[in-house]
Amino acid sequence: MIPSPRTILEPLGTLRRVLPLLWASSSKCALLTTFLMVLEVGFGLAALYLLKQLVDLVTTLLGDEATAAQGMEQVLGYVALTGGATLAFMVTRALSNLAKEAQALLVADYIDGKVHERAVSADLAFYESPRYFDTLERARESGNQRPAQVIGNLMMLSRNGLMLAAVVVLLVSIDWLLLPVLLVAILPGLLVRLHFTRHLYDWQRRRTQMERKASYLDWLMTSNLHAKELRIYQLGDHLRAQYAKLRGQIRRERLQITQRRTRLEVVVGSAAAIAFFTSLAYLAWQTAEGHSSVGDLVLFMLIFQRAQTMGQELVQQLSKLYEDHLYMGLLFEFLDIRPEIAEPNHPAAVPESLREGIRFEKVGFQYPGSAEPTLSDIDLSIRPGQVVALVGVNGSGKTTLIKLLCRLYDPAQGRITLDGVDIRNYSPEQYRNLFSVIFQDYSQYAASVKENIHFGDIQSSGEQPSIMTAAINAGADDFISRLPRGYDTPLTRMFDEGQEISIGQWQKLALARAFLRKSTFIILDEPTSSLDPEAEFEMFENFRERINHRGALMISHRLSTVRMADYIYVMDQGRVCESGTHEELIRKRGTYCKLFNKQAFHYRDAEV
Ligand code: ADP
Repeated sequence: MIPSPRTILEPLGTLRRVLPLLWASSSKCALLTTFLMVLEVGFGLAALYLLKQLVDLVTTLLGDEATAAQGMEQVLGYVALTGGATLAFMVTRALSNLAKEAQALLVADYIDGKVHERAVSADLAFYESPRYFDTLERARESGNQRPAQVIGNLMMLSRNGLMLAAVVVLLVSIDWLLLPVLLVAILPGLLVRLHFTRHLYDWQRRRTQMERKASYLDWLMTSNLHAKELRIYQLGDHLRAQYAKLRGQIRRERLQITQRRTRLEVVVGSAAAIAFFTSLAYLAWQTAEGHSSVGDLVLFMLIFQRAQTMGQELVQQLSKLYEDHLYMGLLFEFLDIRPEIAEPNHPAAVPESLREGIRFEKVGFQYPGSAEPTLSDIDLSIRPGQVVALVGVNGSGKTTLIKLLCRLYDPAQGRITLDGVDIRNYSPEQYRNLFSVIFQDYSQYAASVKENIHFGDIQSSGEQPSIMTAAINAGADDFISRLPRGYDTPLTRMFDEGQEISIGQWQKLALARAFLRKSTFIILDEPTSSLDPEAEFEMFENFRERINHRGALMISHRLSTVRMADYIYVMDQGRVCESGTHEELIRKRGTYCKLFNKQAFHYRDAEV
């Protein structure tokens, strides 16, 4: 249970990383804080030293009435000096706190910036693993204030350490026997605190997933996204019970640890009190016997308690420093995450105009943690300006293929090439610029209509004509012009004057977003699944003009839409089982033909 010396020294390792962070966030503030802290310690020690001189002087004067009158002047001089030093100490302390706070705020924003930088550049694979969430959540939990706290604590620690050393010297000058007593009063408390800091930290680390589940339930019950289903299926009580059970378990475990710590602290605190009163009795007895002076006794009472308070503060700061060190470790763990899909050392230049386009060559892929391959032996090509369709039942791997195409993942086998060059040789950012994509779970931003479209090409100026052209091509302009504030209407009730729109209207906005970007290829994963048949028909009637004759890869279950593609790939269980033009595939009388006939049958049925 007693922490090892290594445990106690570990926090110093954290400093090696924290100091550059502080320096990077604000070097001026860091210098000012250090300077003020040194001044603060200087004035504090001076005040203490002057106090001791004062007590010494008064003690000498007590014994000698003759010199008492002259001595008064000296006494007053010391009182004035001590007062001055104390005042200066207080002022520098206030200034030092101010500088520390300013620094904490600056560092906090700097750390937030770093965390966001990592979060937006992490591989997509991270978002799909609980490990990512654990590290992110723990990094968040560790807080953006920690680095500044570490330094603040360290400064207070050095300040208190110096002061405590001075007080110890004063105590030993009264009687050296008081030293072991002081140790008994301080050391056990330190060990208990350090032990429980580690214990609590380990427990919290184990509990991250449980906490996450609780926050998820909390979000389910309070977010507007789930409000409808929650009411219809009457899930409220069930979720509340689950939440209460989880929180109850977390609370009980946490309280158990706190109870154990409190019990031990009471024992340790009692030992310290006994130590103090025993020494007091001893010193009172020595004074009564004439071996010590009254001055000694007064000084002892004054400074032993002060030493004890400082000792307690020191213990608290040490355990805080240790805790900060543990949590900083989590923050650094997160900041150390490096995306695997990263810039190559010598990136090839993405060609301005493509000759050959994209090719999948025997591509295979398996999701991390999944037992079966999701894609195997995929051969596929998309030439510039060609419209290619992907067809297949749910789970056959169509979306995964798109994720690989956009380089959100890298293939495990085979390769994907752009004009004959493996796409891993290009800068991921430049390569992704070739595409505009609508995923099935496209985003609905709580922002204005205009911003929702502009997000498709944030580098562009976002001027009204280009936004409007994209909206017109996506068939969204009609409904937008009927909104109360047109393109400036905020889309969400989260903000004032916000407006809710229908899912089909959201999909049109997502289409407009994809159309805005002057990309070489446009990728659409079931882009019209929420559109009414008329809107869908209009969309595909002159699709090539709408997408400006770019290359396109389109996933759709509606074969009436698919038939307009130049080339069609049919997927089944992660493989391409058929490919060809619509006519070729119909003639083949395979899977595509069967699917097509089934759909046609339903439509014919409906017409009757
Ligand atoms: P489709 O788009 O054809 O419906 P997907 O590409 O979405 O199919 O999914 C193909 C297979 O990969 C499915 O079996 C699905 O369960 C699995 N899968 C999809 N996404 C993930 C993921 N993030 N992690 C693990 N498996 C996944």
